[in-house]
Amino acid sequence: MDMELTQIESSYSELQAQVEGKVIAPADAGYDEARLAWNRKVEQHPAVIVVAKTAQDVAAAVSFARQHDLGVAVQGTGHGNVRPADDCLLILTQEMNQVTINPTDQTAYVAAGVKWGAVLAAAQQHGLAPLLGSSPMVGVVGYTLGGGLGWLARKYGLSADNVVAFELVTADGQLRTASEDENPDLFWGLRGGGGSLGIVTSLIIRLFPVTEVYAGNLFYPASMAQEVFRRYRDWIADAPDELTSSVLIMNFPPIPDLPEFLRGQSFAIVRGCYCGDLGEGEALLHYWRDWQPPLVDDFKTIPFSAAATISSDPVDPMPAANSGAWLRELSDAAIDAIVTYALGMDGSSPLTFAEVRHAGGAIRRVAAATAVYGNREAELVLSLVGVTPTPEAYQQLAAYIGQLNEALRPSLTGGVYMNFLEGTESQQRVRDGLASGGYERLARLKAQVDPENRLRYSFNVPAAH
Ligand SMILES: Cc1cc2nc3c(=O)[nH]c(=O)nc-3n(C[C@H](O)[C@H](O)[C@H](O)COP(=O)(O)OP(=O)(O)OC[C@H]3O[C@@H](n4cnc5c(N)ncnc54)[C@H](O)[C@@H]3O)c2cc1C
Repeated sequence: MDMELTQIESSYSELQAQVEGKVIAPADAGYDEARLAWNRKVEQHPAVIVVAKTAQDVAAAVSFARQHDLGVAVQGTGHGNVRPADDCLLILTQEMNQVTINPTDQTAYVAAGVKWGAVLAAAQQHGLAPLLGSSPMVGVVGYTLGGGLGWLARKYGLSADNVVAFELVTADGQLRTASEDENPDLFWGLRGGGGSLGIVTSLIIRLFPVTEVYAGNLFYPASMAQEVFRRYRDWIADAPDELTSSVLIMNFPPIPDLPEFLRGQSFAIVRGCYCGDLGEGEALLHYWRDWQPPLVDDFKTIPFSAAATISSDPVDPMPAANSGAWLRELSDAAIDAIVTYALGMDGSSPLTFAEVRHAGGAIRRVAAATAVYGNREAELVLSLVGVTPTPEAYQQLAAYIGQLNEALRPSLTGGVYMNFLEGTESQQRVRDGLASGGYERLARLKAQVDPENRLRYSFNVPAAH
Protein backbone atom coordinates (compact mmCIF):
# COMPACT_ATOMS: atom_id res chain seq x y z
CA MET A 1 0.00 0.00 0.00
CA ASP A 2 2.79 2.42 0.98
CA MET A 3 4.60 1.45 -2.19
CA GLU A 4 1.47 2.25 -4.28
CA LEU A 5 1.02 5.55 -2.47
CA THR A 6 4.59 6.54 -3.19
CA GLN A 7 4.13 5.71 -6.87
CA ILE A 8 0.98 7.84 -7.14
CA GLU A 9 2.60 10.71 -5.27
CA SER A 10 5.61 10.67 -7.52
CA SER A 11 3.40 10.62 -10.62
CA TYR A 12 1.58 13.69 -9.28
CA SER A 13 4.87 15.50 -8.91
CA GLU A 14 5.71 14.54 -12.51
CA LEU A 15 2.42 16.11 -13.56
CA GLN A 16 3.16 19.19 -11.45
CA ALA A 17 6.43 19.60 -13.31
CA GLN A 18 4.51 19.70 -16.61
CA VAL A 19 1.92 22.33 -15.73
CA GLU A 20 1.99 26.01 -14.81
CA GLY A 21 -1.08 25.59 -12.62
CA LYS A 22 -1.41 23.59 -9.44
CA VAL A 23 -1.79 19.86 -8.90
CA ILE A 24 -3.73 19.01 -5.76
CA ALA A 25 -3.82 15.47 -4.38
CA PRO A 26 -6.25 14.15 -1.74
CA ALA A 27 -3.59 14.38 0.97
CA ASP A 28 -2.87 18.06 0.18
CA ALA A 29 -4.13 20.85 2.41
CA GLY A 30 -6.18 22.59 -0.31
CA TYR A 31 -7.98 19.45 -1.50
CA ASP A 32 -11.26 19.82 0.41
CA GLU A 33 -11.68 23.41 -0.68
CA ALA A 34 -10.71 22.71 -4.30
CA ARG A 35 -13.21 19.87 -4.75
CA LEU A 36 -16.19 22.07 -3.81
CA ALA A 37 -18.76 22.93 -6.46
CA TRP A 38 -20.86 26.12 -6.31
CA ASN A 39 -23.80 23.78 -5.82
CA ARG A 40 -23.01 22.48 -2.35
CA LYS A 41 -25.22 19.46 -2.89
CA VAL A 42 -22.36 18.03 -4.95
CA GLU A 43 -20.03 15.70 -3.03
CA GLN A 44 -17.03 14.71 -5.11
CA HIS A 45 -13.69 13.08 -4.38
CA PRO A 46 -11.39 13.25 -7.39
CA ALA A 47 -8.22 11.15 -7.50
CA VAL A 48 -6.34 14.34 -8.35
CA ILE A 49 -7.20 17.96 -9.17
CA VAL A 50 -5.42 20.19 -11.67
CA VAL A 51 -6.05 23.92 -11.40
CA ALA A 52 -5.15 24.69 -15.00
CA LYS A 53 -3.71 28.02 -16.07
CA THR A 54 -3.28 27.41 -19.80
CA ALA A 55 -4.56 25.24 -22.64
CA GLN A 56 -1.21 23.40 -22.44
CA ASP A 57 -1.97 22.58 -18.79
CA VAL A 58 -5.26 21.07 -19.88
CA ALA A 59 -3.52 19.04 -22.58
CA ALA A 60 -0.91 17.80 -20.08
CA ALA A 61 -3.62 16.86 -17.58
CA VAL A 62 -5.62 14.94 -20.18
CA SER A 63 -2.50 13.08 -21.36
CA PHE A 64 -1.67 12.23 -17.75
CA ALA A 65 -5.19 10.88 -17.24
CA ARG A 66 -4.83 8.72 -20.34
CA GLN A 67 -1.50 7.31 -19.17
CA HIS A 68 -2.98 6.47 -15.75
CA ASP A 69 -6.33 5.29 -17.07
CA LEU A 70 -8.30 7.97 -15.25
CA GLY A 71 -11.56 9.58 -16.35
CA VAL A 72 -11.46 13.36 -16.85
CA ALA A 73 -13.97 15.78 -15.34
CA VAL A 74 -13.90 19.56 -15.69
CA GLN A 75 -15.47 22.28 -13.63
CA GLY A 76 -15.72 25.98 -14.33
CA THR A 77 -17.89 27.05 -11.40
CA GLY A 78 -19.84 23.96 -10.30
CA HIS A 79 -23.24 25.55 -11.06
CA GLY A 80 -24.25 22.65 -13.29
CA ASN A 81 -22.69 19.44 -12.08
CA VAL A 82 -23.91 16.39 -14.00
CA ARG A 83 -21.93 13.66 -12.27
CA PRO A 84 -19.66 14.09 -9.25
CA ALA A 85 -15.96 13.95 -10.20
CA ASP A 86 -15.18 10.83 -8.15
CA ASP A 87 -11.95 8.86 -8.61
CA CYS A 88 -10.98 10.80 -11.73
CA LEU A 89 -8.78 13.70 -12.71
CA LEU A 90 -10.72 16.94 -12.17
CA ILE A 91 -9.61 19.98 -14.15
CA LEU A 92 -10.58 23.30 -12.59
CA THR A 93 -10.60 26.16 -15.09
CA GLN A 94 -11.22 29.13 -12.77
CA GLU A 95 -7.71 30.52 -13.29
CA MET A 96 -8.11 30.56 -17.08
CA ASN A 97 -9.84 33.90 -16.98
CA GLN A 98 -8.83 36.01 -19.94
CA VAL A 99 -11.51 38.05 -21.74
CA THR A 100 -10.67 40.13 -24.82
CA ILE A 101 -13.29 42.13 -26.68
CA ASN A 102 -12.89 42.71 -30.41
CA PRO A 103 -15.19 45.71 -30.99
CA THR A 104 -14.65 45.68 -34.76
CA ASP A 105 -15.80 42.10 -35.22
CA GLN A 106 -18.23 42.39 -32.29
CA THR A 107 -16.83 39.24 -30.75
CA ALA A 108 -15.21 38.22 -27.48
CA TYR A 109 -12.38 35.80 -26.84
CA VAL A 110 -13.24 34.04 -23.59
CA ALA A 111 -11.02 31.58 -21.73
CA ALA A 112 -12.51 28.45 -20.18
CA GLY A 113 -12.94 29.64 -16.60
CA VAL A 114 -14.60 33.00 -17.28
CA LYS A 115 -17.95 33.81 -15.67
CA TRP A 116 -20.54 35.77 -17.62
CA GLY A 117 -20.24 38.84 -15.40
CA ALA A 118 -16.68 39.47 -16.62
CA VAL A 119 -17.71 39.29 -20.29
CA LEU A 120 -20.70 41.54 -19.65
CA ALA A 121 -18.60 44.20 -17.93
CA ALA A 122 -15.92 44.17 -20.63
CA ALA A 123 -18.38 44.12 -23.56
CA GLN A 124 -20.55 46.93 -22.18
CA GLN A 125 -17.56 49.26 -22.29
CA HIS A 126 -17.84 48.95 -26.08
CA GLY A 127 -21.63 49.21 -26.17
CA LEU A 128 -21.91 45.47 -26.72
CA ALA A 129 -23.64 42.64 -24.89
CA PRO A 130 -23.04 38.88 -24.61
CA LEU A 131 -25.88 36.36 -24.42
CA LEU A 132 -25.61 35.61 -20.73
CA GLY A 133 -28.37 33.99 -18.70
CA SER A 134 -30.02 35.11 -15.51
CA SER A 135 -26.86 34.87 -13.39
CA PRO A 136 -23.51 36.55 -14.14
CA MET A 137 -21.88 34.02 -11.78
CA VAL A 138 -22.49 31.15 -14.20
CA GLY A 139 -19.59 30.02 -16.39
CA VAL A 140 -19.59 30.92 -20.08
CA VAL A 141 -18.43 27.48 -21.20
CA GLY A 142 -20.78 25.17 -19.25
CA TYR A 143 -23.77 27.39 -20.05
CA THR A 144 -22.91 27.57 -23.75
CA LEU A 145 -22.24 23.83 -24.13
CA GLY A 146 -25.77 23.20 -22.83
CA GLY A 147 -27.41 25.80 -25.12
CA GLY A 148 -27.58 29.00 -23.11
CA LEU A 149 -30.95 30.70 -22.76
CA GLY A 150 -30.77 34.29 -21.58
CA TRP A 151 -32.70 37.54 -21.61
CA LEU A 152 -31.79 38.34 -25.23
CA ALA A 153 -32.52 34.81 -26.50
CA ARG A 154 -35.65 35.42 -28.55
CA LYS A 155 -33.95 38.28 -30.41
CA TYR A 156 -30.42 36.91 -30.86
CA GLY A 157 -30.71 33.19 -30.11
CA LEU A 158 -28.89 30.78 -27.85
CA SER A 159 -25.37 31.34 -26.68
CA ALA A 160 -24.47 28.06 -28.44
CA ASP A 161 -25.78 29.47 -31.72
CA ASN A 162 -23.43 32.42 -31.41
CA VAL A 163 -20.12 30.68 -30.97
CA VAL A 164 -17.65 31.45 -33.75
CA ALA A 165 -15.07 28.88 -32.65
CA PHE A 166 -14.08 26.64 -29.77
CA GLU A 167 -10.56 25.69 -28.83
CA LEU A 168 -10.57 22.35 -27.06
CA VAL A 169 -8.43 19.48 -25.91
CA THR A 170 -9.76 16.12 -27.02
CA ALA A 171 -9.28 12.90 -25.04
CA ASP A 172 -6.08 12.11 -26.97
CA GLY A 173 -4.50 15.24 -25.46
CA GLN A 174 -4.55 17.21 -28.77
CA LEU A 175 -5.44 20.89 -28.87
CA ARG A 176 -7.95 21.49 -31.69
CA THR A 177 -10.17 24.22 -33.08
CA ALA A 178 -13.81 23.57 -33.83
CA SER A 179 -15.65 26.01 -36.07
CA GLU A 180 -17.75 25.93 -39.22
CA ASP A 181 -14.57 25.40 -41.27
CA GLU A 182 -12.39 23.34 -38.95
CA ASN A 183 -13.61 20.11 -37.37
CA PRO A 184 -17.24 20.97 -38.23
CA ASP A 185 -18.46 17.70 -36.65
CA LEU A 186 -17.02 18.69 -33.29
CA PHE A 187 -18.47 22.18 -33.75
CA TRP A 188 -21.89 20.62 -34.33
CA GLY A 189 -21.59 18.37 -31.26
CA LEU A 190 -20.29 20.98 -28.84
CA ARG A 191 -23.24 23.30 -29.35
CA GLY A 192 -25.76 21.68 -27.02
CA GLY A 193 -23.90 18.42 -26.45
CA GLY A 194 -22.19 19.41 -23.19
CA GLY A 195 -18.54 18.62 -22.62
CA SER A 196 -18.62 15.06 -23.93
CA LEU A 197 -16.31 15.71 -26.93
CA GLY A 198 -13.50 17.63 -25.29
CA ILE A 199 -12.30 20.04 -22.65
CA VAL A 200 -12.97 23.52 -24.00
CA THR A 201 -10.03 25.82 -23.28
CA SER A 202 -11.47 28.98 -24.87
CA LEU A 203 -14.10 30.18 -27.26
CA ILE A 204 -14.94 33.12 -29.47
CA ILE A 205 -18.51 34.37 -29.16
CA ARG A 206 -20.58 37.01 -30.93
CA LEU A 207 -21.67 40.16 -29.12
CA PHE A 208 -24.67 42.38 -29.84
CA PRO A 209 -25.31 46.12 -29.70
CA VAL A 210 -27.44 46.25 -26.54
CA THR A 211 -26.79 48.89 -23.88
CA GLU A 212 -30.21 49.63 -22.38
CA VAL A 213 -33.24 47.42 -21.96
CA TYR A 214 -36.73 47.81 -20.53
CA ALA A 215 -36.75 45.07 -17.92
CA GLY A 216 -37.88 43.99 -14.50
CA ASN A 217 -40.57 42.22 -12.52
CA LEU A 218 -44.23 42.58 -11.66
CA PHE A 219 -45.26 40.91 -8.40
CA TYR A 220 -48.85 39.81 -7.91
CA PRO A 221 -50.34 38.11 -4.84
CA ALA A 222 -49.94 34.32 -4.88
CA SER A 223 -53.72 34.07 -4.63
CA MET A 224 -53.91 35.51 -8.19
CA ALA A 225 -51.36 33.06 -9.60
CA GLN A 226 -53.70 31.13 -11.92
CA GLU A 227 -55.08 34.35 -13.42
CA VAL A 228 -51.58 35.77 -13.84
CA PHE A 229 -50.35 32.62 -15.60
CA ARG A 230 -53.37 32.59 -17.95
CA ARG A 231 -52.96 36.26 -18.73
CA TYR A 232 -49.26 35.67 -19.36
CA ARG A 233 -50.16 32.93 -21.87
CA ASP A 234 -52.17 35.49 -23.87
CA TRP A 235 -49.49 38.18 -23.51
CA ILE A 236 -46.76 36.11 -25.12
CA ALA A 237 -48.98 34.64 -27.85
CA ASP A 238 -47.82 37.31 -30.29
CA ALA A 239 -44.92 38.84 -28.38
CA PRO A 240 -42.18 40.42 -30.48
CA ASP A 241 -38.75 38.76 -30.47
CA GLU A 242 -37.35 41.75 -28.58
CA LEU A 243 -39.27 40.51 -25.54
CA THR A 244 -37.90 37.51 -23.68
CA SER A 245 -39.95 36.87 -20.56
CA SER A 246 -41.07 34.40 -17.94
CA VAL A 247 -43.78 33.81 -15.39
CA LEU A 248 -43.10 32.19 -12.06
CA ILE A 249 -44.17 31.33 -8.60
CA MET A 250 -41.54 32.42 -6.11
CA ASN A 251 -41.48 31.22 -2.52
CA PHE A 252 -39.03 33.54 -0.79
CA PRO A 253 -37.29 31.80 2.11
CA PRO A 254 -37.82 33.18 5.61
CA ILE A 255 -34.28 34.52 5.88
CA PRO A 256 -33.17 37.78 7.53
CA ASP A 257 -31.22 39.00 4.45
CA LEU A 258 -34.50 39.62 2.61
CA PRO A 259 -36.65 42.74 3.07
CA GLU A 260 -39.55 42.03 5.41
CA PHE A 261 -42.30 42.18 2.77
CA LEU A 262 -40.59 39.34 0.84
CA ARG A 263 -39.41 37.20 3.76
CA GLY A 264 -41.26 33.88 3.78
CA GLN A 265 -43.81 35.20 1.24
CA SER A 266 -44.98 33.75 -2.07
CA PHE A 267 -45.79 35.70 -5.23
CA ALA A 268 -46.76 35.21 -8.85
CA ILE A 269 -44.19 37.16 -10.85
CA VAL A 270 -44.04 38.29 -14.47
CA ARG A 271 -40.44 38.91 -15.43
CA GLY A 272 -38.89 40.07 -18.67
CA CYS A 273 -36.47 42.03 -20.76
CA TYR A 274 -37.26 44.08 -23.87
CA CYS A 275 -34.20 44.84 -25.99
CA GLY A 276 -35.77 47.02 -28.71
CA ASP A 277 -37.06 50.61 -28.66
CA LEU A 278 -37.52 51.45 -24.98
CA GLY A 279 -40.84 53.24 -25.52
CA GLU A 280 -42.22 50.16 -27.26
CA GLY A 281 -41.04 48.06 -24.34
CA GLU A 282 -42.85 50.29 -21.89
CA ALA A 283 -45.99 50.20 -24.07
CA LEU A 284 -46.04 46.39 -23.83
CA LEU A 285 -46.33 46.68 -20.06
CA HIS A 286 -49.69 48.56 -20.29
CA TYR A 287 -51.26 45.14 -20.73
CA TRP A 288 -50.42 44.43 -17.09
CA ARG A 289 -50.43 47.88 -15.55
CA ASP A 290 -53.91 48.68 -16.94
CA TRP A 291 -55.22 45.36 -15.65
CA GLN A 292 -54.33 45.13 -11.95
CA PRO A 293 -51.84 47.26 -10.11
CA PRO A 294 -49.00 44.89 -9.16
CA LEU A 295 -47.75 44.78 -5.56
CA VAL A 296 -44.27 45.51 -6.90
CA ASP A 297 -43.51 46.98 -10.32
CA ASP A 298 -39.82 47.49 -11.01
CA PHE A 299 -39.99 47.26 -14.81
CA LYS A 300 -37.98 50.21 -16.07
CA THR A 301 -35.13 51.19 -18.35
CA ILE A 302 -31.91 49.70 -17.02
CA PRO A 303 -28.40 49.51 -18.39
CA PHE A 304 -27.83 45.98 -19.69
CA SER A 305 -24.77 45.87 -17.40
CA ALA A 306 -27.37 45.48 -14.60
CA ALA A 307 -28.99 42.43 -16.25
CA ALA A 308 -28.42 40.40 -13.07
CA THR A 309 -31.08 42.48 -11.28
CA ILE A 310 -33.80 41.00 -13.50
CA SER A 311 -33.71 37.61 -11.75
CA SER A 312 -31.55 38.46 -8.71
CA ASP A 313 -30.27 34.88 -8.61
CA PRO A 314 -28.38 33.74 -5.54
CA VAL A 315 -24.69 34.59 -5.60
CA ASP A 316 -23.32 32.58 -2.68
CA PRO A 317 -22.83 28.83 -3.04
CA MET A 318 -25.80 26.79 -1.88
CA PRO A 319 -27.15 23.22 -2.00
CA ALA A 320 -29.82 23.21 -4.69
CA ALA A 321 -31.61 20.77 -6.96
CA ASN A 322 -32.83 21.74 -10.43
CA SER A 323 -35.25 20.07 -12.75
CA GLY A 324 -37.50 21.00 -15.61
CA ALA A 325 -38.90 20.13 -19.01
CA TRP A 326 -40.22 21.59 -22.24
CA LEU A 327 -43.96 22.26 -22.25
CA ARG A 328 -46.19 21.89 -25.28
CA GLU A 329 -48.54 24.59 -24.04
CA LEU A 330 -49.71 26.41 -20.94
CA SER A 331 -53.12 24.76 -20.82
CA ASP A 332 -55.42 25.56 -17.90
CA ALA A 333 -54.63 22.10 -16.51
CA ALA A 334 -50.86 22.69 -16.81
CA ILE A 335 -51.20 26.06 -15.07
CA ASP A 336 -53.24 24.43 -12.34
CA ALA A 337 -50.57 21.75 -11.79
CA ILE A 338 -47.64 24.20 -11.77
CA VAL A 339 -49.34 26.68 -9.45
CA THR A 340 -50.69 24.02 -7.10
CA TYR A 341 -47.35 22.23 -6.72
CA ALA A 342 -45.29 25.41 -6.61
CA LEU A 343 -47.37 26.89 -3.81
CA GLY A 344 -47.94 23.52 -2.12
CA MET A 345 -51.19 21.77 -1.31
CA ASP A 346 -51.03 22.78 2.35
CA GLY A 347 -49.42 26.18 1.82
CA SER A 348 -45.83 24.98 1.86
CA SER A 349 -43.75 23.52 -0.96
CA PRO A 350 -40.21 22.15 -1.21
CA LEU A 351 -39.82 24.21 -4.41
CA THR A 352 -38.21 27.63 -4.13
CA PHE A 353 -39.53 28.56 -7.52
CA ALA A 354 -41.26 27.22 -10.61
CA GLU A 355 -40.61 29.39 -13.65
CA VAL A 356 -41.90 29.07 -17.19
CA ARG A 357 -39.58 30.83 -19.63
CA HIS A 358 -40.58 31.87 -23.12
CA ALA A 359 -38.10 30.66 -25.74
CA GLY A 360 -38.77 30.40 -29.50
CA GLY A 361 -38.00 33.45 -31.66
CA ALA A 362 -34.44 33.33 -33.00
CA ILE A 363 -33.86 29.93 -31.35
CA ARG A 364 -36.37 28.16 -33.55
CA ARG A 365 -35.24 29.93 -36.71
CA VAL A 366 -31.95 27.99 -36.61
CA ALA A 367 -32.19 24.76 -38.63
CA ALA A 368 -32.29 21.63 -36.44
CA ALA A 369 -29.28 20.13 -38.27
CA THR A 370 -27.01 23.07 -37.39
CA ALA A 371 -26.12 21.82 -33.93
CA VAL A 372 -26.89 18.90 -31.62
CA TYR A 373 -28.98 21.18 -29.37
CA GLY A 374 -32.57 19.91 -29.48
CA ASN A 375 -36.15 20.97 -28.86
CA ARG A 376 -35.87 24.20 -30.84
CA GLU A 377 -39.52 24.18 -31.80
CA ALA A 378 -40.67 24.11 -28.17
CA GLU A 379 -41.31 27.59 -26.81
CA LEU A 380 -41.99 27.12 -23.11
CA VAL A 381 -39.50 25.66 -20.70
CA LEU A 382 -40.27 24.90 -17.08
CA SER A 383 -37.48 25.40 -14.56
CA LEU A 384 -37.88 24.03 -11.03
CA VAL A 385 -35.47 24.80 -8.21
CA GLY A 386 -35.45 23.80 -4.56
CA VAL A 387 -32.91 24.15 -1.77
CA THR A 388 -31.78 20.72 -0.59
CA PRO A 389 -29.41 20.92 2.38
CA THR A 390 -29.62 17.17 3.13
CA PRO A 391 -29.94 13.98 1.04
CA GLU A 392 -33.39 13.52 2.61
CA ALA A 393 -34.49 16.98 1.46
CA TYR A 394 -33.24 16.10 -2.02
CA GLN A 395 -35.17 12.79 -2.06
CA GLN A 396 -38.31 14.56 -0.91
CA LEU A 397 -37.98 17.22 -3.60
CA ALA A 398 -37.25 14.65 -6.31
CA ALA A 399 -40.40 12.69 -5.37
CA TYR A 400 -42.44 15.90 -5.32
CA ILE A 401 -41.18 16.88 -8.77
CA GLY A 402 -42.04 13.36 -9.97
CA GLN A 403 -45.66 13.94 -8.87
CA LEU A 404 -45.74 17.34 -10.56
CA ASN A 405 -44.44 15.78 -13.78
CA GLU A 406 -47.22 13.17 -13.62
CA ALA A 407 -49.81 15.92 -13.24
CA LEU A 408 -48.21 17.82 -16.15
CA ARG A 409 -47.77 14.81 -18.43
CA PRO A 410 -50.30 15.80 -21.15
CA SER A 411 -48.50 19.13 -21.57
CA LEU A 412 -44.91 17.84 -21.62
CA THR A 413 -43.24 17.48 -25.02
CA GLY A 414 -40.93 14.73 -23.71
CA GLY A 415 -37.94 17.00 -24.27
CA VAL A 416 -35.71 18.57 -21.63
CA TYR A 417 -33.45 21.59 -21.54
CA MET A 418 -30.19 20.12 -20.24
CA ASN A 419 -29.02 23.35 -18.59
CA PHE A 420 -32.02 23.24 -16.28
CA LEU A 421 -31.22 19.72 -15.06
CA GLU A 422 -28.40 18.47 -12.90
CA GLY A 423 -27.32 15.29 -11.14
CA THR A 424 -29.06 11.98 -11.83
CA GLU A 425 -31.70 13.45 -14.12
CA SER A 426 -29.06 15.05 -16.35
CA GLN A 427 -27.25 11.71 -16.55
CA GLN A 428 -30.42 9.92 -17.60
CA ARG A 429 -32.03 12.36 -19.99
CA VAL A 430 -29.24 13.41 -22.36
CA ARG A 431 -31.06 11.94 -25.36
CA ASP A 432 -34.18 14.04 -24.62
CA GLY A 433 -32.12 17.22 -24.67
CA LEU A 434 -30.66 16.66 -28.12
CA ALA A 435 -31.85 17.08 -31.70
CA SER A 436 -33.47 14.05 -33.31
CA GLY A 437 -30.73 11.51 -34.11
CA GLY A 438 -28.26 13.72 -32.25
CA TYR A 439 -27.43 11.19 -29.56
CA GLU A 440 -26.51 8.53 -32.11
CA ARG A 441 -24.35 10.95 -34.13
CA LEU A 442 -22.60 12.14 -30.93
CA ALA A 443 -21.95 8.49 -30.01
CA ARG A 444 -20.34 7.92 -33.42
CA LEU A 445 -18.19 11.04 -32.94
CA LYS A 446 -17.21 9.78 -29.50
CA ALA A 447 -15.99 6.56 -31.13
CA GLN A 448 -13.56 8.72 -33.13
CA VAL A 449 -12.37 11.17 -30.49
CA ASP A 450 -12.96 9.46 -27.14
CA PRO A 451 -13.54 5.73 -27.68
CA GLU A 452 -12.86 4.96 -24.01
CA ASN A 453 -15.36 7.59 -22.89
CA ARG A 454 -12.82 9.25 -20.66
CA LEU A 455 -14.93 12.43 -20.72
CA ARG A 456 -18.01 10.88 -19.13
CA TYR A 457 -18.59 13.38 -16.34
CA SER A 458 -20.43 15.94 -18.48
CA PHE A 459 -23.36 14.79 -20.66
CA ASN A 460 -22.47 11.12 -20.76
CA VAL A 461 -22.55 9.71 -24.29
CA PRO A 462 -20.70 6.38 -24.53
CA ALA A 463 -18.94 5.74 -27.83
CA ALA A 464 -20.91 3.79 -30.44
CA HIS A 465 -19.34 0.45 -31.35
C1 LIG B 1 -28.25 30.41 -10.37
C2 LIG B 1 -28.27 29.77 -11.73
C3 LIG B 1 -28.81 30.47 -12.81
C4 LIG B 1 -28.84 29.90 -14.09
N1 LIG B 1 -29.41 30.59 -15.13
C5 LIG B 1 -29.44 30.03 -16.36
C6 LIG B 1 -30.02 30.71 -17.47
O1 LIG B 1 -30.53 31.82 -17.33
N2 LIG B 1 -30.01 30.09 -18.67
C7 LIG B 1 -29.44 28.87 -18.88
O2 LIG B 1 -29.41 28.41 -20.00
N3 LIG B 1 -28.90 28.21 -17.85
C8 LIG B 1 -28.90 28.75 -16.61
N4 LIG B 1 -28.36 28.05 -15.57
C9 LIG B 1 -27.84 26.71 -15.80
C10 LIG B 1 -26.39 26.77 -16.21
O3 LIG B 1 -26.28 27.24 -17.53
C11 LIG B 1 -25.78 25.37 -16.12
O4 LIG B 1 -25.83 24.96 -14.79
C12 LIG B 1 -24.37 25.33 -16.66
O5 LIG B 1 -24.02 23.99 -16.86
C13 LIG B 1 -23.39 25.98 -15.71
O6 LIG B 1 -22.14 26.07 -16.30
P1 LIG B 1 -20.84 26.34 -15.39
O7 LIG B 1 -19.67 26.27 -16.28
O8 LIG B 1 -21.08 27.56 -14.57
O9 LIG B 1 -20.90 25.13 -14.36
P2 LIG B 1 -20.00 23.79 -14.18
O10 LIG B 1 -20.74 23.00 -13.14
O11 LIG B 1 -18.61 24.13 -13.89
O12 LIG B 1 -20.09 23.08 -15.55
C14 LIG B 1 -21.32 22.63 -16.06
C15 LIG B 1 -21.12 21.53 -17.07
O13 LIG B 1 -20.30 21.98 -18.13
C16 LIG B 1 -19.13 21.17 -18.23
N5 LIG B 1 -17.99 22.04 -18.46
C17 LIG B 1 -17.61 23.12 -17.72
N6 LIG B 1 -16.47 23.64 -18.22
C18 LIG B 1 -16.14 22.89 -19.29
C19 LIG B 1 -15.06 22.92 -20.21
N7 LIG B 1 -14.10 23.84 -20.13
N8 LIG B 1 -15.02 21.99 -21.20
C20 LIG B 1 -15.97 21.04 -21.29
N9 LIG B 1 -17.01 20.95 -20.43
C21 LIG B 1 -17.09 21.87 -19.44
C22 LIG B 1 -19.00 20.49 -16.89
O14 LIG B 1 -18.31 19.28 -16.99
C23 LIG B 1 -20.43 20.29 -16.49
O15 LIG B 1 -20.97 19.16 -17.11
C24 LIG B 1 -28.33 28.60 -14.28
C25 LIG B 1 -27.79 27.89 -13.19
C26 LIG B 1 -27.78 28.45 -11.94
C27 LIG B 1 -27.25 27.66 -10.78
